Amino acid sequence: MTSISGLLSQGTTFSFEFYPPRTEKGAKQLMTTMEHLLPYNPSFISITYGAGGSSREQTLEIVKELKYNTRSTILPHLTCIGHTRNEIEELVNQYVDIGITDILALHGDQPRNSAPLTEGDFKFATDLIEFLRINYDLSLGVAAHTEGHPAASSYSTDLEHQSSKIRTADFAITQFFFDVNHYILFREEMKKRKVFIPIIPGIIPVTNPAEIDRMIRLAGGTFPQKLWEEINNASDQESKQRIGINHSIQLVKQLLKAGAPGIHFYPMNRWQETEQLLQYLDFNSH
Ligand SMILES: Cc1cc2nc3c(=O)[nH]c(=O)nc-3n(C[C@H](O)[C@H](O)[C@H](O)COP(=O)(O)OP(=O)(O)OC[C@H]3O[C@@H](n4cnc5c(N)ncnc54)[C@H](O)[C@@H]3O)c2cc1C
Repeated sequence: MTSISGLLSQGTTFSFEFYPPRTEKGAKQLMTTMEHLLPYNPSFISITYGAGGSSREQTLEIVKELKYNTRSTILPHLTCIGHTRNEIEELVNQYVDIGITDILALHGDQPRNSAPLTEGDFKFATDLIEFLRINYDLSLGVAAHTEGHPAASSYSTDLEHQSSKIRTADFAITQFFFDVNHYILFREEMKKRKVFIPIIPGIIPVTNPAEIDRMIRLAGGTFPQKLWEEINNASDQESKQRIGINHSIQLVKQLLKAGAPGIHFYPMNRWQETEQLLQYLDFNSH
């Protein structure tokens, strides 16, 4: 299986991110989503890792399932919040044993539905990367926040922290954003700081204003006011979806034109909007 660094050196990638479902209904939905989206043969598929709770084990289970049953490279997310060094080691060893070549190394967010976690043995994502670099031969990705991390004291301080982190990785994947300029400016800021690794933009298909509002409150970032009003004022769900998808199509085209090394889709475990996007963009299902 080719690592993501290897794939990026061969050409433009496209990828999906899924999260471990919390309910039986969610599990069925994820299965159907995969039936729809996996035939598009993504370059890689990433699986999120919930800080705390049962989704930790679920990430490993889904990673194994996909590793054995698809041709795509699988990218497990790994968060260090609340973890000891030994716990991280145990989990990464299991990934290495099944032939995983890449890890997305993250700090992680506090869980929403369980007790808050204390910091673990690694304070920041950079500490986790350092540990993984010393102990494993893996291709390593990190999170990038084009509009700055929401908890940072200022954008400029955050850019310094982000550049120090991204510099040590093989690739970065961005938090979703809705304006191509956020990506272009961020990439410029990284270049000024001598960071040249591939930064893959994350795209969330836009259709539901309430969902977008919730996501932005969690992840930070901004949503274009004009698009917000257009979607909100649309009379029915079909029109909202059309406006949102059109915006996402334009964004993907602008990103590719601007030289993005790949596109990472956040389908939110649903297939409808992402499949529509892929079809408009002429990605073929096999
Ligand atoms: C592509 C992607 C995938 C994600 N997947 C998951 C997931 O699976 N599970 C999950 O729980 N969350 C996930 N997240 C969310 C992410 O964990 C949160 O945004 C988290 O709050 C920050 O993670 P990080 O790895 O960017 O942290 P870090 O890089 O450690 O940064 C966290 C904060 O610390 C600050 N900082 C960094 N270094 C220093 C330093 N040396 N001194 C002082 N301050 C510093 C930064 O400015 C920032 O404010 C994902 C995010 C992205 C973009």
